[in-house]
Amino acid sequence: MPELSPVVARFRLGIPPEIRRRIRRADDALGRQFVPDVRELDRAPGEVPDPIGDQRFSPVEGLVHRYPDRVLLLPTLLCHVYCRFCFRRETVGDPGRGVLTEARTTAALQWLHQHPAVREVILTGGDPLVLSVARLARLVSRLAEVPHLRILRLHTRVPIVAPERITPELGEALRSRLATWVVLHTNHPDELGPAALAAAATLSGWGFPLLSQSVLLAGVNDQAETLIALFRTLVENRVKPYYLHHLDRAEGTDHFRVPLSRGQELVGVLRGRLSGIAQPTYVLDIPGGYGKVPIGPNYLHGGPTEGPGVYQVTDPWGGLHDYADLEGR
Ligand SMILES: *Cc1c(COP(=O)(O)O)cnc(C)c1O
Ligand code: SF4
Repeated sequence: MPELSPVVARFRLGIPPEIRRRIRRADDALGRQFVPDVRELDRAPGEVPDPIGDQRFSPVEGLVHRYPDRVLLLPTLLCHVYCRFCFRRETVGDPGRGVLTEARTTAALQWLHQHPAVREVILTGGDPLVLSVARLARLVSRLAEVPHLRILRLHTRVPIVAPERITPELGEALRSRLATWVVLHTNHPDELGPAALAAAATLSGWGFPLLSQSVLLAGVNDQAETLIALFRTLVENRVKPYYLHHLDRAEGTDHFRVPLSRGQELVGVLRGRLSGIAQPTYVLDIPGGYGKVPIGPNYLHGGPTEGPGVYQVTDPWGGLHDYADLEGR
């Protein structure tokens, strides 16, 4: 389709076989996430190249440090699949900046050694599991040598979009003294075929707790039934839904936007219908780099303006109840 060539010239295209097999139409839940669309060339108000302000919080290349106890490390900006709504789409997939060089990795590790308050390193990118097993093994062992680090977290789509990469050699490469958590990015139950679920089972068999993060996307997962099926499937496969992200304002993503009020409504439906362990937190990454916060819905109303300790609280099905807190006695 010639009208798509300016789109793929601007934003990288990549759809691995595991996903290609599952796309039936360009406008189904998987097609919309991965097949380029001319609307990506539109720029809506508020859309910017660096929506969550990574640049401002990067002390050395490849690191983003916004919170005192944890830091992002981006060992690569390459992915196995390129999501059309990606919040780092301006930098992700650029072959010129593919993998963090040896010198820059060393500089990032030096920074880590000098920052004893950092207990957790979050490997992201790009997708850290794009790296070769040898490179990952070396990176993990260098991280494990940083004495104050306790936790290693990987944010990845690879187990779902390229499950053949979850091999015993990878398991060896990731093994270290660090508590290793894996966060799977997945947005729709159709992504979770037998091979993807087997890859998740392999990861949990290695002893890594699994979490998921999803992005709320128009035409992909903005229906309660879809989210319920997704989160149930994840929990049944030992993956705890962690975050449901409100879409960041990256360029050319307006056709994926779900209004925040609709997001709150959906999350409210989940509260009444789904097991507590299947509930993710709905979060906004505040533009400009101010961090992630839960964005509701709100269940507690009233407070000091109504009189000390006087609240009303909404139950999971929408009923309102008075609640008198201790400070009102
Ligand atoms: C998202 C993010 C994290 C991780 O936040 P959690 O709430 O711990 O999942 C850490 N650092 C930066 C810079 C981030 O953007
Ligand atoms: S896998 Fe993550 S980093 Fe890569 S394109 Fe998708 S959202 Fe962006």
